[in-house]
Amino acid sequence: MALIDELVDPAVHAELEAVEEQAEAEVEAAVDEQAAALGLTAAALVAAAPAVVAAVSAAVLAAVPLGARIALGAARPQRPRRGGRLPAPGAVDVRGAVRDAVRGGVEALRDAPEEQRPVVFGRARDWFGVTARDVTQRGASAGAQAAARRAGAAGLLWVAERDACLQCARYSGETSPTGAFRAGLSFDRAYVWTSFSGQPPLHPNCRCVLVLYWPGSTLPGALRREARAAVLAHASTSASHAAATRAAARLGRTAA
Ligand SMILES: [Zn+2]
Repeated sequence: MALIDELVDPAVHAELEAVEEQAEAEVEAAVDEQAAALGLTAAALVAAAPAVVAAVSAAVLAAVPLGARIALGAARPQRPRRGGRLPAPGAVDVRGAVRDAVRGGVEALRDAPEEQRPVVFGRARDWFGVTARDVTQRGASAGAQAAARRAGAAGLLWVAERDACLQCARYSGETSPTGAFRAGLSFDRAYVWTSFSGQPPLHPNCRCVLVLYWPGSTLPGALRREARAAVLAHASTSASHAAATRAAARLGRTAA
């Protein structure tokens, strides 16, 4: 059993995933509705934006308490330090994310030759769905940060699934006293996604979560050991064979 299954209630993690999936379905339906009226056009993307903002905002509201429950799932009873040092979570910028998705789609359609428009429109629609999931997960991370602050925890601990990608695996066991994690960690080549905000999701469809961190906890070390063992066992389901081999060889050298 992977550590994440002991730290995080799988039912709550699944509930968060269901909220993300519903948000994705709703924004795609909103785009389809406008496409039926206005065609596969930039105007349809622009017209869908208000419904997309509404659907994603509702998903973020649902994700915040789920992120808090996920974060507290691992909490051992502790005497909280008054107030805690963690800053309050920043607001999740739903409008900004939707605006970026609309702008990207509009620009792609403007530059596309006529015969490519259906494909380009389809990609823009998909990107709306990716954005919905991404922003919803940011809501869960904000909930985790609020929970850690309330509990007076020393910070947040990043937890990846055992079969995570080589980037997420490298984050597993990382702690942050401010809730903001640095960009660019990886067991293989580093890559920084433009949507990364210092917390999960690291990338689209990331399944990582944040839990409370207490001083003296052995969890960071245990998570790092588990992640290294997973890399050596080629456990990542998303890494290419070449990347997995490279990462395992590099880890093998440092261990020797
Ligand atoms: Zn991840």
